[in-house]
This record gives sequence, structure tokens and C-alpha cells, in this order.
Amino acid sequence: MSYDFDLFVIGAGSGGVRCARIAAGHGARVAVAESRHWGGTCVNLGCVPKKLMVQASDYGDWVEDSHGFGWNTRRGHNDWAELIAAKDREITRLNGIYVSMLEKAGVSLFTGHATIEDAHTLRIDPSPLAPHAAPRRVTAARIVIAVGSTPTMPAIDGIGHAISSDQAFHLKERPARVCMVGGGYIGVEFAGIFHGLGSEVDLVYRQQLPLRGFDSDLRHALHDAIDLRGIRQHVGASPTSIDRLADDSFVVTLDNGARIETDCVFFATGRHPKVASLGLIQAGVATQENGRIIVDENGETSIPGIYAIGDVTNRLNLTPVAIAEGHMLADRLFGNEPPRQWSFATTPKAVFFTPALASVGLTETEATHNGDVDIYISRFRPMRNTLSGRAQRTFMKLVVDQASQTVVGAHMLGDDAPEIMQGLAIAVTAGLKKGDWDRTIGIHPSAAEEFVTMRTRTRVTPRSAE
Ligand code: NDP
Repeated sequence: MSYDFDLFVIGAGSGGVRCARIAAGHGARVAVAESRHWGGTCVNLGCVPKKLMVQASDYGDWVEDSHGFGWNTRRGHNDWAELIAAKDREITRLNGIYVSMLEKAGVSLFTGHATIEDAHTLRIDPSPLAPHAAPRRVTAARIVIAVGSTPTMPAIDGIGHAISSDQAFHLKERPARVCMVGGGYIGVEFAGIFHGLGSEVDLVYRQQLPLRGFDSDLRHALHDAIDLRGIRQHVGASPTSIDRLADDSFVVTLDNGARIETDCVFFATGRHPKVASLGLIQAGVATQENGRIIVDENGETSIPGIYAIGDVTNRLNLTPVAIAEGHMLADRLFGNEPPRQWSFATTPKAVFFTPALASVGLTETEATHNGDVDIYISRFRPMRNTLSGRAQRTFMKLVVDQASQTVVGAHMLGDDAPEIMQGLAIAVTAGLKKGDWDRTIGIHPSAAEEFVTMRTRTRVTPRSAE
């Protein structure tokens, strides 16, 4: 049977675009449908605009810190509307790059909402990006679902008053006070952004420390850094209701009885796969209760010929992971060589608070499941903070499997942590030994050199039976 396309990708986000481009490069006839934003969440409502806003929020610190270096500068105020407009111009430029990249690769583009009718048939209906487009029906030998995820808003009283990260990038004005709910990636990052731009921030999360799943010492270091910045942390608490007051401000009531008055309630309480209205049930594609599309090790769903990559599979919801999955799938389906392999187990992670933190490999607790662990920790005042007088210290930690002396985890909170961790991720992925780190000569003066000069073991943590 002949189909219109060899591959139809639903969703032009990071994973979908990579999959489509690589497949087209292998000679496949490829199409992509996008209903909302070319480039998906990362480019439009995630990583890219977030990072630009983190950078915007850092300038206040730089002005303050410059005084210690002899500069006679004055801290002004950030013009939110100008920042958002500049950010939007950059995002529009990137949207264009994504479209032209796909076109140059020979991929056919469909602007609209795609629904799977059966394993080889898709319907494309008008969507916000193309409201007047005529509906179309196309066929494809294989389908890849790469539609990503969307914010999860818990059902509490008054949740309709709250925003998510989707709205945060387009607020008309910067709220003077923000109540951030959620101590994960987005909660921590946006707490830092709003605080840095001048808002008063309350950060509410239900654990005792932010960033569940990260190394415990790193979480403590982050907790202290959040305090030091003057962000009010409400730990071990969850909101039960949000009420709007006559002056359009809000009161958030917590389950411990506390009440937080604020101008903006921002929920960053996780994301879930965007599978509604994709036609999955009709097509028979199996999902978990949370909507996660179930895939095998080849990315194939319960229906042969239908695949899923990226956040919609709800594994590691990170852009580079979606890209790697998309690339691998295209290689596997259409390439002549064996697919390029990635080390998902050593995927580095970063959270762009100020200061940023980053990790690769195992936490101390995870490492103790395999045996006794040598821990190396360093805390120091970074050079810039000596003259600036800023109290923030840098935190670094190495987790070493004692028996093999392999460095199985590295963790850092401090300036440039994500930039440094990317390099260290190669060493951890390569399974290098502590001795290899020790014989590496440092770059002086840098913070990063501390990672190759940590000689004195801080402690030994015995194997855990759990
Ligand atoms: P996270 O899963 O990182 O964090 C969710 C937070 O919300 C946690 O603190 C969680 O608490 C809390 N939470 C969940 N449900 C509730 C509830 N019903 N009531 C109160 N609190 C709740 O999700 P995010 O939304 O921050 O980010 C989504 C994903 O996007 C991330 O997991 C990450 O994969 C990706 N991302 C990556 C970034 C990066 O790489 N820098 C940046 C931003 C996002 P608990 O821990 O107790 O479950």
C-alpha cells in the first residue's frame, strides 16, 4: 500500500523536529504537524525564554556587585514590557529558524491540529496557529507522537485565579508580589526570576527541601541559597484555597493555616502529557493513568508503526532527552547504520536559579545502593564574592563508588554550574576513576578547578540495605 508519507510527526518541538530532520536526511518522505508554536515548549514557553529571563534577572546583582570593584553604578529598575518584547522578538526569530530548518531538510509542514484516526491515517484540523485552514486527511507508513506536555493544576478552591508557566511568559506587568507553588524545576527557577527582577516572592512546597530527587546536600545548599536571597520559603505546606480580594490581589491559604497575600499565584506543580484530543483511544494507543504513552525500548507504542518520544512518554522531561530519542528513532527507522547511542543514565541536569545548580550521575543515597561510597565536599567563597561582599558560597560534591573508585556523581551549586557540569558529564559518562580526576590539572583561578583538587575525603557513607 502506498502512503502519502513514510513518516508523519505530530508536534514540532525539540524531539519532533530532530526526528523529522534526521529521517528526511536518511531519504524518508517526512511531514510534521504543529498546532501552536514551531519549536514547541522549549523554544516558546520553556527553556529558551526562561533562560533569557534568568539572564535579565541577574543584572541587578551584577550592578550591586560592581560597587566592590570600584564601579559607581546605580541599580535602576527592570522594564518588564521591554524585556517581554525583546524576548518575543528573539522567539519569533527562532520560530522562523525552526520552520526554515525543516523546509531545507525537505520536510512537508502542516499547520493545524493532527488527530490519529487509525495506525496510518491522520486528520489535520484548523488550530490557533491556522484557524481558517481547510481540514485535511493524510496517510503515513509510520506516525511519531511528539506533542509534549502541559502544566498540571491541582483542583483546589480558586485554582482559576492561578497562572502556570504558560502565562508567566506573557504577563502584561510584573507582579509586585508572587506566590510560587511547587519546589521543582519551574518553581525554583521562576522564584529566582521574579525575585531578581524586583518582586517579593513566597515559595511554597510540600517537602522539607526543594527539588525532590536531587542530592540531599545539594538540596540543603539550595534551600540556604533561597533563604539568602530573601525569598520566603514555606516548607512542608500546600495551598488549600485561593481567594481574590476587592483590590484584585489574592490570598493563598495553606494547609498549615498560614495565609499569603500576593498579586500573582503561580502554580508550578508538574506537567502531564498533552494527549487529550489526539485520537489515541480510537487508534488503540495504550497510556498510563497519568496520560503517559507507554512505549517499548524502541519508542514503539502498543500499536505497531506508532511511536512516541519526549515529554509525552513522561520519562525524563528534558529537551536534550527528547532530542536524543527523536534522533535515535529516525536512525533506527530509516538509517543504514546502527542508531547513535546515548547514555540516558548520566543525563546531566541543571536548575537555573541564581546561583544555578547542576548535577550528573547518582546522588549519594542512590550510590549507596551499590556499595560503600566516598564523599568529597567543598564549600568556598567564589572569587567574585570576595570583593563584591556577596555572602553566597559555592557548593561542590563528588560521589565515588569506594570499591571501584569510579566517580558516579557530581553536584554543584554556584555560578556557571551548568556550564561546568556539561564537561564533568563526559567524565562521569566515561566512568572515569577518582584518580583520573586527580591527575587532571586545574585551570587557575577558576571555581571548576576545585573538582580536580578535592583530595580529602569528607566522609564514607556505608552501603544502604534499602
Ligand atoms: P517538577 O516535577 O519539577 O516539580 C513539581 C513540584 O510541584 C514539586 O515540588 C512537587 O512536589 C509539587 N507538586 C506536585 N503536585 C502538587 C500538588 N498537588 N500540590 C502541591 N505541590 C505539588 O515539575 P515542574 O512543574 O517544576 O517542571 C516540570 C518538568 O519540566 C520538570 O520536572 C522538568 O522535567 C522540566 N523542566 C526542566 C527544566 C530544566 O531542565 N532546567 C526547567 C523547567 C522544567 P513533590 O516533590 O512533593 O512531588
